[in-house]
Amino acid sequence: MKEDIRCPKCGSDALYRYGKTHNGRRRFLCLVCNRQFVWPSVKAEVAERPNCPKCGAPMHVYMRHAPVIRYRCRNYPKCRTFVKVDKSKKE
Ligand SMILES: [Zn+2]
Ligand SMILES: [Zn+2]
Repeated sequence: MKEDIRCPKCGSDALYRYGKTHNGRRRFLCLVCNRQFVWPSVKAEVAERPNCPKCGAPMHVYMRHAPVIRYRCRNYPKCRTFVKVDKSKKE
């Protein structure tokens, strides 16, 4: 089993694993920027999920390659709108 777990802030995979949360998610500490986070971080993704700029429908995560997340319109293939969010630019 190979997971691509990366720091949500800087995208580094130099992570120190230091336990689990009560609901089974794992805690990590980034060794590059010292950011602490849990994986998977479902909450953050749902909160930042954009609406389609063309038809207004909520978008799904299509591809994640931290810190960039690509979203696809829910009405695909009717509406072929893609949105790319680069999290590293916001923080
Ligand atoms: Zn980091
Ligand atoms: Zn759309």
